[in-house]
Amino acid sequence: MSNRCVVLLSGGLDSMLAIRIMQRQGVEVEALNFKTAFTCCQDDSGRAARDLGVRLTVVSQEDDYLDLVRKPRFGYGKGANPCVDCRIYMFEKAKQFMEQVGARFVVSGEVVGQRPMSQKRRDFDIIAHHSGLDDLLLRPLSAKMLPPTLPEREGWVDREQLYDICGRSRKKLIAMAKEFDLPNIPSPSTGCALTEPKFSRKVFDLIELAPTATFWEYDLLSVGRHYRFDKHTKVVVGRKESENIQLQYTHRLPEANSTALLMPDNFAGPTALLLGEPTPQALDYAIALLTRHSNFEETADLEESAAPQIRLSTHDETRTVAACVSEAALAAKTIAAD
Ligand code: SF4
Repeated sequence: MSNRCVVLLSGGLDSMLAIRIMQRQGVEVEALNFKTAFTCCQDDSGRAARDLGVRLTVVSQEDDYLDLVRKPRFGYGKGANPCVDCRIYMFEKAKQFMEQVGARFVVSGEVVGQRPMSQKRRDFDIIAHHSGLDDLLLRPLSAKMLPPTLPEREGWVDREQLYDICGRSRKKLIAMAKEFDLPNIPSPSTGCALTEPKFSRKVFDLIELAPTATFWEYDLLSVGRHYRFDKHTKVVVGRKESENIQLQYTHRLPEANSTALLMPDNFAGPTALLLGEPTPQALDYAIALLTRHSNFEETADLEESAAPQIRLSTHDETRTVAACVSEAALAAKTIAAD
């Protein structure tokens, strides 16, 4: 068996250094990047893999990932981030990948004490154990603070050339990046929307009021302003053209066939998507929100005599309705409270 390992590569500095440490010892590296529906777009794993000269495989979460977001066994961090459960899930995927590519062990750039959740000393043991990797999981940046793993005991890697870094300071890591001649030193970022307070409020709202929500509803959380009408109904209003297009696209998804789409007919304004039962009251609320976020005075194509109209499409029909505002819509606050 060749001396090959799988390294989880997020694109951050820690995982890049973990790869360099393995390469320096002559260990062959297969990089694995794990994406979730909540991974932000500034994922630099592709560039990092190129800089490091390693082959990169990207895997996505499956449907069961939402179970751990809804009910994490080891709890949430400051936001809706179930980091310990999420890392266990990632390392389970890494273990499967390790077996597929004939690697001997898995490596991660985790540093003891660097993050309040998931990188506490105790969390390291929980993650290694529950992922099934146990001592096939090597953390080279903090290895000397941890019991020797199988790769170290077997001599597949030299423990003497591993590190004893702990805590939040990046000083030593940046010094190592220079020593290893890394061309780009990424700034620290979780790259995960679940850690963001505003996004987390929308996630918790969905978990509480739509416990069976699926990925398309979670995907929608990063689009537009979200207003809750009642326990079963909410309205999403686009903030820019790309979001209006995404709301129109979502409305056409087969699994979103209970949504209602509202678009200005003869004036400029945003698109709105109603999720839930399109009762007359809920539709009035959605119409009023769309009207509130429009600016008739700046609309060029509204004839002076024409009343502003909204095109309303449900699963069964398309019709036009009059635009109007209401006190409830004027007073409405988004779920994210922005
Ligand atoms: S920050 Fe997000 S992606 Fe990273 S471990 Fe936590 S939940 Fe998972």
